[in-house]
Amino acid sequence: MPLITMKQLYDVAERRGFAVPGYDTAGGQLGHLDAILRTAEEMNAPAIVSEGYKAMRFYFDPECYAEAAKAAIRKTKVPVVLHLDHSFEFDHVARAIQYGFTSVMFDGSRLPYEENVRATREVVQMAHAVDVTVEAELGKVGGLEGDTNSQADESFYTDPELARDFVEKTGIDALAPAVGTAHGFYKEEPRLDFERLRKIKEATRVPLVLHGATGVPLADVKKGIELGIRKVNIATQIRSTFVKAVHAYMDAHPEDYSERVIKSGRAALREFMVEQIQTFGCAGMAAEF
Ligand SMILES: [Zn+2]
Repeated sequence: MPLITMKQLYDVAERRGFAVPGYDTAGGQLGHLDAILRTAEEMNAPAIVSEGYKAMRFYFDPECYAEAAKAAIRKTKVPVVLHLDHSFEFDHVARAIQYGFTSVMFDGSRLPYEENVRATREVVQMAHAVDVTVEAELGKVGGLEGDTNSQADESFYTDPELARDFVEKTGIDALAPAVGTAHGFYKEEPRLDFERLRKIKEATRVPLVLHGATGVPLADVKKGIELGIRKVNIATQIRSTFVKAVHAYMDAHPEDYSERVIKSGRAALREFMVEQIQTFGCAGMAAEF
């Protein structure tokens, strides 16, 4: 199957009422990439390979990573989106598009509102000119490097009427609202504001993206999908599961320095992915493309 855009994925997801996990590859780890693609194939589900620009540059090289990911996606039997996660600079988005990403997230949520609108609209104009999908954030999900807000403080949550205005003015394809989740691990169980989510969907009519989904009970994510969530970002869980499995393998095999060490981490990813793909409703949906 070819690489598809997130817009193509969302069109089917909106029609059939499912969501797709947006799995992070921890800076461009090929073991993560392989686990995402193989599990999606096994479940006959569409897939998203998601990575942030800074993380890619930290571990690897964005252009090399994009080439490796595109080659792997070409050999995959299900439709796959190559998505740039949280980017804060126009230049990073432009480069990712040049390298072949078919979807980008521009995160202007730390900017004053009017500035977020202006910067996001600029990204949309550039991306849409070459048929690339754009996601943006309004309100503050928080929990990323440099964020200080607490998920308990509702003043950081997305206002539905402002969301309507934001979507109209920017022309984005998908919105990441702040509805009670945060990035990273939770100290106490997160509480999704479902009523707010329902109002945001009603006001904007665009696919919604749930960020900070690690640790949110699957039943709550499922309810969110019924209210219009179409992509569920999973980063912390994929990273921690991989590292924990590698630790356990190394404890059990202290003298093994082979590729089996990394392979042990990759094998652990499949289990939770299967459960999420089933719960999110996207198993078997590759047939719809
Ligand atoms: Zn995020």
